[in-house]
Amino acid sequence: MTQPTTLPCGESFNLAEFDPSFSGGMERKRQAKAETKDNLEALLDLQARLYAENRHSLLVVLQAMDAAGKDGTIKHVMGAFNPQGVRVTSFKVPSKLELAHDFLWRVHRAAPPRGMVGIFNRSHYEDVLIVRVLGLAPEALWRKRFDHINAFEKLLSDHGTTVVKIFLHVSPEEQAVRLQARLDTPGKEWKFNPDDLGARRQWADYMAAYEEALTRCNTPWAPWHVVPADRKWYRNLAVSRIVRRTLEALNPSYPDPEPGLEAMVIPPVHWP
Ligand code: ATP
Ligand code: MG
Repeated sequence: MTQPTTLPCGESFNLAEFDPSFSGGMERKRQAKAETKDNLEALLDLQARLYAENRHSLLVVLQAMDAAGKDGTIKHVMGAFNPQGVRVTSFKVPSKLELAHDFLWRVHRAAPPRGMVGIFNRSHYEDVLIVRVLGLAPEALWRKRFDHINAFEKLLSDHGTTVVKIFLHVSPEEQAVRLQARLDTPGKEWKFNPDDLGARRQWADYMAAYEEALTRCNTPWAPWHVVPADRKWYRNLAVSRIVRRTLEALNPSYPDPEPGLEAMVIPPVHWP
């Protein structure tokens, strides 16, 4: 049994055909965990080279419904990176100042500079998702954003940023279990936000919005991936694979040492 995580460019697709509880035929967590661990070790090494080379950057965009595991993915997968070379940005309801600018203003500032990994916990895609579903902007305005997004991501890509976008695909049934657990588990209540129930009621509208956004903005320079997210261990494995593959394709390398260093010996310092 297979289920691709990549989407064919230019073709529309039906999210309902992607099984959120897919686990690659792996029934056992242990098997997945071993490969995940190996991937995470590789990520640390690849990141060290990306940082040292200082030529490219990596941007990982995470989008999902509530409780699909964006936070868990950041903790368990992105946590493998050296914090010095990573910046996580969470995009919330825009401030007054942000709303006074175009929708990409706050996003562009958060794009990772050379050598760095940037993680977006939600992103500019909110401006064609929640904005569309809740009618926060007229359709004539948000519709143009697909082209704006593609052009923006092309700009990032042309300037050396590899953009990889991941949709964590959770089922409404699994979301119910997780939201209920937030209510019932001491220490988790703070995570419960009654607004999440509103978004949950509009599940079909969100899925339609995701389908169009993922179709219209699935480009060769910034592809979308659909990751089954009902099983956390498979989600971590799938995301670690995607990020590892992406960095391996980039193949960053340590810069060559300055000529003449081979013969250099560090002189002693006598102290005190
Ligand atoms: P958590 O897992 O902690 O719930 P979260 O990403 O849902 O994480 P919240 O602070 O609960 O964080 O929610 C942020 C909210 O901001 C989301 O409902 C999101 O849809 C909304 N949001 C983000 N960007 C925009 C935007 N451009 N316009 C309107 N709403 C936005
Ligand atoms: Mg939330």
